[in-house]
Amino acid sequence: MKVSFVIPVLNEEDSLKTLYEEILENVIGWEYEFIFVDDGSTDKSLCIMKEIAEKDLNVKVISFRKNFGKSAALHVGFKEAKGDIVFTLDADLQDNPKEIPKFVEQINAGYDLVTGWKEKRLDPITKTLPSKLFNFVTSKTFKLALHDYNCGFKAYKKEVVNEIDVYGEMHRYIPALAKAKGFKIKEISVEHRSRKFGKSKYGFERYLRGYLDLLTVKLVTDYSRSPLYLFGGIGTILSLIGLAISLYLFIMRVLHLTYLSNRPILFFAVLLVVVGVQFISIGLIGELLVNQNRLHNKYTNISIKKRIN
Ligand code: UDP
Ligand code: MG
Repeated sequence: MKVSFVIPVLNEEDSLKTLYEEILENVIGWEYEFIFVDDGSTDKSLCIMKEIAEKDLNVKVISFRKNFGKSAALHVGFKEAKGDIVFTLDADLQDNPKEIPKFVEQINAGYDLVTGWKEKRLDPITKTLPSKLFNFVTSKTFKLALHDYNCGFKAYKKEVVNEIDVYGEMHRYIPALAKAKGFKIKEISVEHRSRKFGKSKYGFERYLRGYLDLLTVKLVTDYSRSPLYLFGGIGTILSLIGLAISLYLFIMRVLHLTYLSNRPILFFAVLLVVVGVQFISIGLIGELLVNQNRLHNKYTNISIKKRIN
């Protein structure tokens, strides 16, 4: 069995060596490879990774010209990974590599994606509280109850990595993307350590972007095959409400019970109909795009096939 470790790195010079050694202690007996993805570090991280790679041929270093974000780093790392099991870990030593065998155990038990849960999270409350809300909303949205979507410590079967595509800041929703492709997911509690070196790369702004990504992921997971169900559904409801109000006003007018000039709700009715029709049109354009894609792309076949060894 071969395991890959995909590690996104942004300015983690003090942790890298220890991280490498700690991981090695936990892969005894397996074939392994490291894929360090330097996401535009401005400290000595790249230098240190290169040093490690010089001594160990199983270590690969990929370097970005500038900071493109963790999702981009994972995307490129996943493309490169050759292992049967692919691990992702944060480079800041907050994830403890001694948990690696627990992940492997679950993969061997038949799960496709095993994701960590920082049950006793050692981060400031400004992080843990919004994170609780994030996980609650995300669990409800994707109907997949997890305590910790965004844990950096995860293990994937190779085919999961091949099938999912992360961009933007979508790494937070990887379990949702995997679930949408029919993969089996398991969450396990892992030890979390406080950050000893460097500082967190994320502040509060992550939640704004996270919210926008939630919309994207929901769209691509649930509606990418039939966007009209979403847009046409909303549009039809809005239009029907608008039409109902218009009809009511029309009848009142015909019966001489009211003048339309003193019924401001008329504007609201017209607005609903116009916006509703726009929604339906967006859905139809979406359908055309999906249809085009289907002609040019074999994805409908590939992404739903299960590999049978
Ligand atoms: N990271 C990255 N690119 C970024 C931000 C972060 O590669 O733009 C890496 C970072 O070096 C670390 C991991 O992603 O290995 C998680 O980042 P961090 O520890 O800052 O997140 P937190 O633990 O605070 O959620
Ligand atoms: Mg961290």
